[in-house]
Amino acid sequence: MTALPPNATIGIVGGGQLGRMSALAAARLGYRCHILTPEPDSPAALVSAGVTLAEYEDQAALRSFAAAVDIITFEFENVSAEGLDLLASLKPVHPSPAVLRVSQDRAVEKGFLNGIGVATAPWLPVDDMASLADAAARLGLPAILKTTRLGYDGKGQAMIGAEADFLAAFDALEPKPLVLEGLVDFSCEISVIVARGANGMVAAFDAVENSHRDHILDMTYAPARVTPEIAAEAQAIARKVADALDLVGLLAVEMFVAADGRVLVNEIAPRPHNSGHWTIDACPFSQFELHIRAIAGLPLPRATRHADAVIKNLVGPEEAALWPELLATPGLIPHLYGKAEARPGRKMGHVTRLFALGGLPGPFAIARALGALNSVGNPAPSPLEGEGRGEG
Ligand code: AMP
Repeated sequence: MTALPPNATIGIVGGGQLGRMSALAAARLGYRCHILTPEPDSPAALVSAGVTLAEYEDQAALRSFAAAVDIITFEFENVSAEGLDLLASLKPVHPSPAVLRVSQDRAVEKGFLNGIGVATAPWLPVDDMASLADAAARLGLPAILKTTRLGYDGKGQAMIGAEADFLAAFDALEPKPLVLEGLVDFSCEISVIVARGANGMVAAFDAVENSHRDHILDMTYAPARVTPEIAAEAQAIARKVADALDLVGLLAVEMFVAADGRVLVNEIAPRPHNSGHWTIDACPFSQFELHIRAIAGLPLPRATRHADAVIKNLVGPEEAALWPELLATPGLIPHLYGKAEARPGRKMGHVTRLFALGGLPGPFAIARALGALNSVGNPAPSPLEGEGRGEG
């Protein structure tokens, strides 16, 4: 793969904040970006040289988008793989449509992971009520019923505690088919972001720990508060998945650390990831720069960090309204995505707080460091919890 020359144009499918931060990283490397999105004034288009405003299924628009760019990537996985196939017939697309197909379908994804020897929660496909009853009998209850496609931020899943829940859960979840997953008793949720170039070079960031609120990522702690062995295993898993996919680009691997210490993959996403936003401020080369470098055929640096960090997402109108206070809080590095309207559950921005390398403090100090954010639906830890790690 020859390196994409400076001033070339990178096409990004999707106009969200991941595209915005990718475009900002691309700009620093001397590239232009052109966004394909149906949304006027999208966060990515607001910082890019060009935009094609069209639905992802609009074939004429896909063709004119491809004509306007030199290479193509995506920041949004719910684009149709067929649309991406069309783009790939016109311009290089990284990661490939084949990689997208694996990550778009939970059943395909889990089958792929298990096939390369990567452990997941126990799971079974569910097509109808009979297969649901059979899966529940084999996996045991409680279990989680999930759509195979189009799920994100906890949408498209239902907890099943008893047989009485079967029908309501099955009926509520669309589109079918579904999968039933055994409930993992986990001590924490972690993720590793890995970049891989066309030459097979891989750079993996340190494993980080993620905490959720209302099924939406709330905070990321870098590094994860796990043993060095578990951190190394998580990185090894991410590298293995990237290699097996023959990935060119960036991949986020979300994992559970089970109470018994096993590391189980929950899901993968072949794009920049919310749990990698800390890398903008705590690493010489962020996840977005590694993404751009990998798809542009540039040398991949090591994914080192020069600080420990936490990030907190600014979700919905309540947290977005704290912006003036956050700007004035010493030590907070604020990021805003340029979204005009702050709807509940919408990620409006994030803040990063850096700590000395190896000096990530306990929950009290982290809560204090977040200033005003600490009090929004996210109560400070009770004094009884102490400063130990693990409370998230
Ligand atoms: P997902 O949509 O698969 O990313 O799941 C959203 C969240 O639900 C995860 O981050 C976990 O907190 C929880 N979750 C999902 N699957 C399981 C499982 N099999 N066992 C326990 N918790 C789960």
